Amino acid sequence: MKVCVLASGSSGNCTFIELSGMKILVDAGISAKRIVHTLNEIGEDIDEIEGVFLSHEHSDHVKGVPNLLEKYQLRLFSNRETLQRLPIQVPFHQWYELTSDPFQMGDVIVQPFSVNHDAANPIAFTFQNHQESVGVVTDIGSVTNLVREQLTHVNVLVIEANYDYQMLMNGPYPWDLKQRIASRLGHLSNEDTAKLIAELVHPSLEYVFLAHRSENNNDEFLCKDTIQQILAQNNVPLPPIAMTYQRKRSILFHRS
Ligand SMILES: [Zn+2]
Ligand SMILES: [Zn+2]
Repeated sequence: MKVCVLASGSSGNCTFIELSGMKILVDAGISAKRIVHTLNEIGEDIDEIEGVFLSHEHSDHVKGVPNLLEKYQLRLFSNRETLQRLPIQVPFHQWYELTSDPFQMGDVIVQPFSVNHDAANPIAFTFQNHQESVGVVTDIGSVTNLVREQLTHVNVLVIEANYDYQMLMNGPYPWDLKQRIASRLGHLSNEDTAKLIAELVHPSLEYVFLAHRSENNNDEFLCKDTIQQILAQNNVPLPPIAMTYQRKRSILFHRS
């Protein structure tokens, strides 16, 4: 299994996953050119990517989609509501419709599941084969039992830690935007994420990527500190944590 967050944050998200030889992207909110370039950096080729899975239609998740579909003939995996809100017409043969049912691609079982966010039909994903699994969950305003259930056994978790509550409230955003971000249809704070990780930690949780960090309402070190503190308060051992970045890729998690 390989996992690399090519970019993450409020202005563009894209995650590369390889599992049982299946190579895919989750979201494509940065340019196709940058995706191709960053994949090359980690020794991967866009021509081997089987498709892009979309979590929802916000531009920080779909900006690169038109070019990826047109230039590289990638397939798009999304639900109908997300598809209908894209700024392009997707040729029918390039679209695979996601529902809430799991489905198999090669040796991998893909499980899309609903999350709370202010989009048409936002979802998150787990991908698993017979021995390992990865969950990718960003853009959720609140943690539901469904989310907890789906993430219980993952080995690698990409989870959003969007904002620090104090920084958001004292920051420059207009009040209605602050409220939207902090609402149950917005994003997770560092504290929300820490509490979720504390619930999910188990011996096989090997790696956690902290994703979708706001450049205005959060700070890399504060984010990591908050998570460390809350896990320590709960007497939960800290799993290895990797940060993700808006302007550069994360480390490449590689387990052979
Ligand atoms: Zn969003
Ligand atoms: Zn987003």
